[in-house]
Amino acid sequence: MRCKIPKVLNALDSFLLPALCFGCNAHLYRGEHILCVFCRNELPLADCNFEEENPADRLFYGQRVVIKAGALLQFEAGGTTQKLIHHLKYRGQQQVGEWLGTWYGGLLQHEKVLAGIDWVLPVPLHPRKRRRRGFNQCDRFGRRIATCLGARYSDRLLLRSRSGQTQTARDRWRRFEHIRGVFSVAEPGLLAGARVLLVDDVITTGATLDACCEALGAIPEIQIYIAAMALVGSRQFPN
Ligand SMILES: [Zn+2]
Repeated sequence: MRCKIPKVLNALDSFLLPALCFGCNAHLYRGEHILCVFCRNELPLADCNFEEENPADRLFYGQRVVIKAGALLQFEAGGTTQKLIHHLKYRGQQQVGEWLGTWYGGLLQHEKVLAGIDWVLPVPLHPRKRRRRGFNQCDRFGRRIATCLGARYSDRLLLRSRSGQTQTARDRWRRFEHIRGVFSVAEPGLLAGARVLLVDDVITTGATLDACCEALGAIPEIQIYIAAMALVGSRQFPN
């Protein structure tokens, strides 16, 4: 019961309070959504496309099943991207995921290598965390992208069996070790020979996605692509 109260307050907020920019708290004008025009124009793009080598690819060189990776925004500590994702994950503002998914999905439609993607799968949360938060922050983002690509979406094929803390305190090696073996696949036969787009919120070291690919990599003839809301620069990590 205790954890439901903030959700109720958040829901009430959106009815009772005027919409504010998630970046700078300015009142939004008619036609503005999520961000004011100024914050929207200042959003740092990750500059990843799926045609050429990009900064996200490098993190997955060790995974033979990963064909290409990309992200929409750059994640900078204290920046607008961090504020957006904070509102999405910790303040229940799921429309942020929907907005980013619509935006990124529209761009990914034009990536030739993504034509014919069969499945869009979100990186799963541990069921306990999923219950506590009430949603997976990648859900609406992934669903919108799946719609744009004409692919199927499922949050039941890739599963998380235990929680693995991948956050700031751990060094790179420990992140990879700790998350190994956390993920499993519910119906591997369904994904045999499939082209899969994995979606995540923020790529930091890539350890979480790498562990997902480890689990999916055992499926015959699978091809994996990765699309995230944001990519962290080399020395910045989200909280
Ligand atoms: Zn703003």
